[in-house]
Amino acid sequence: MKKGKFFITTPIYYVNDVPHIGHAYTTIIADILARWHRLAGKKTFFLTGLDENSVNTIRGARKAGMADIKQYTDMMAERWISTWKALGIEYDDFIRTTEERHKKAVRDFFRKVYAKGDIYKGKYSGLYCDACEAFLSEGDLIDGKCPFHRTEPKRIEEENYFFRLSKYADKVLEHIEKNPDFIQPASRRNEVISFIKSGVKDISISRPRTDWGIELPIDSGHVIWVWFDALINYISARPDNWPAEIHLIGKDILRFHTVIWGGMLMAAGYELPKAVFAHGFFTVNGQKMSKTLGNVIDPVEISRKYGTDAIRYYLSREIPFGEDGDFSEDVLKRRINGELLSDLGNLVNRVITIAVKFEGKIEGKAELEKYLDFKRIEGHMGKLEIHHALDAIWDFIRQCNRYVNEKQPWKLEGKELSNTLYNLLESLRIISILIYPFMPNTAERICGQLDVKLGTFGDIRFRKFGGKPKKGELLFRYV
Ligand SMILES: [Zn+2]
Repeated sequence: MKKGKFFITTPIYYVNDVPHIGHAYTTIIADILARWHRLAGKKTFFLTGLDENSVNTIRGARKAGMADIKQYTDMMAERWISTWKALGIEYDDFIRTTEERHKKAVRDFFRKVYAKGDIYKGKYSGLYCDACEAFLSEGDLIDGKCPFHRTEPKRIEEENYFFRLSKYADKVLEHIEKNPDFIQPASRRNEVISFIKSGVKDISISRPRTDWGIELPIDSGHVIWVWFDALINYISARPDNWPAEIHLIGKDILRFHTVIWGGMLMAAGYELPKAVFAHGFFTVNGQKMSKTLGNVIDPVEISRKYGTDAIRYYLSREIPFGEDGDFSEDVLKRRINGELLSDLGNLVNRVITIAVKFEGKIEGKAELEKYLDFKRIEGHMGKLEIHHALDAIWDFIRQCNRYVNEKQPWKLEGKELSNTLYNLLESLRIISILIYPFMPNTAERICGQLDVKLGTFGDIRFRKFGGKPKKGELLFRYV
């Protein structure tokens, strides 16, 4: 893999939301990709954070009975941060849009676009969904309601500042057509193309002044519309790192991240992100996740029950990345008992049990290396076919199990046993590197039992085995 930089982002989540399995999914995948590229030797930067300037924040504070909105956001931010910690997420920066560094970046960005003549004052009259914090057109509605929130948008008429998005629509379209990887997966690309072709209007980017939000640098009677403000987080955290290699998002916010963000960046004179990847939505046991159905899955609770690594594995393995998927506890259990316990856990247990009893020198001829197809795994990861990458890793794990069955090391001794152990221990060392991005804790535990340091991609080849294996706790238990 070529060295270079890898800057990955998740959307910044609404601070007043409660983290659910959907948020966890995006953030876990971002964490996996960040760890993967770091092992590849890339200068990696993983950014996530919170969108705090929304009107929904004010409502959330009110609902929580807190008069001090800042205090409310601090309290909620703690919850998000502790969720990511529980899920083994290691981001490089966590941006909150109430931070001064962000506000300053937003004002600078606004000024650049304004100086270009692409912001003007006008009258807006139309539909607005409070929960989306977005203007909707009649064509967006389903039965007169917001397609995402199933609530009726309100009709508003306001004096607002507008961004000349229409001026950039053709340029964004051209960019999409010239860069086939800009919008992924390909199915989503066509959706955006036809949206642009149906006509893009200028958008209102200010709201009448409230006590919350970022004031317009040119008019204190207005605050900046929260989407215009939020998108800029990708630059405000680390301006020197721009452009992002990939924005990971849910499919519901694809237009914002391609058409609007694309136009904004062009107007302010920035490069566009290299790729925007929109993943699908979750159902739970085949049903739409909703508070009323009571089937909202708390990612922290479920990871406490089954283990963080098992959840990370399940989410990345079960759902073809980019498509809609279903969360099912039964399937989760099946995967834990199957791939994790019988394939991986058993292999580690069997090999270490024999290795600790062996007193000779562990050495031999690489016989298992030919089954290791790292190029194939790397290829899948490069194309964000994460579930296929895991499949390819598991092919190797299963091959190692087959090797144990064939060699029957418990019947061997001397040189033959040494050679068999050499092959299996080296394979386990390499497996620990391959699974680390997905299951960092499990990878570390395998390294602990092998008595080796976790390697990087440069260490994915058979060489001298240098550890002194020791028995550890079982990696997984039957659930
Ligand atoms: Zn809505």
